[in-house]
Amino acid sequence: MTSTLPTPITARSIEPTKHGALSISQRIRQRLQEADVPFLANDNISDFLHEGELDQLESEVAEKVRELLRSLVIDIDNDHNTEETAERVARMYLHEVFKGRYHPQPKIASFPNVKQLDEIYTVGPISVRSACSHHLVPILGSCWIGIKPGQRVIGLSKFSRVADWVFSRPHIQEEAVLILADEIERLCEPQGLAILLKAQHYCMKWRGVKEPQASMINSVVRGDFRHDPSLKAEFFELVKQQESLLSH
Ligand SMILES: [Zn+2]
Repeated sequence: MTSTLPTPITARSIEPTKHGALSISQRIRQRLQEADVPFLANDNISDFLHEGELDQLESEVAEKVRELLRSLVIDIDNDHNTEETAERVARMYLHEVFKGRYHPQPKIASFPNVKQLDEIYTVGPISVRSACSHHLVPILGSCWIGIKPGQRVIGLSKFSRVADWVFSRPHIQEEAVLILADEIERLCEPQGLAILLKAQHYCMKWRGVKEPQASMINSVVRGDFRHDPSLKAEFFELVKQQESLLSH
């Protein structure tokens, strides 16, 4: 017999979607589409999030992860280990491993290059912590940044900050270096920029072909590093020296 008891009013039953209104992710997506702004996995969408919406998005993602766990036939109602996994995963995605999508770029001040410095320097290794767009599993490695200063300079530690922000998104490695290069060019307009990235992909180590030692190395060279082969060679030589420092 069908129960005639009224449906209890719970947090879930008053979700806006139940009344035909849009969920928070749908509203944000709509805003992006109306502005004709891409929202691919490695894009930052923080300009399109209004005050307080990140919290609402976190609740929506947690609800969806809960459904995912249920679909995986995990008894989240009785398993004390996975009881709050959905909330943890939602928090981790939005505020940690994919924070570079939802949070604005950290404030990075640039200064005029008053001494007209024009010698190249390299910074590294900078930790690479990212995830592949295909499987959402970790990409871990290091990157080195080479700069031939232009009109503006930024502090050394700022390269790590901007790299962390860029890498904390789902990526493919080939695009990650290009996005990082664009951001650094925007920040300090160097005369030359080179980036080398070496990383291990857990979608190759943990699953798939299961090659535990395989890594991927790629680089981007722009400006003077691109036009001057000796400058490019100097960058790779400096990186090699920085790497050998690590083994001492
Ligand atoms: Zn993958």
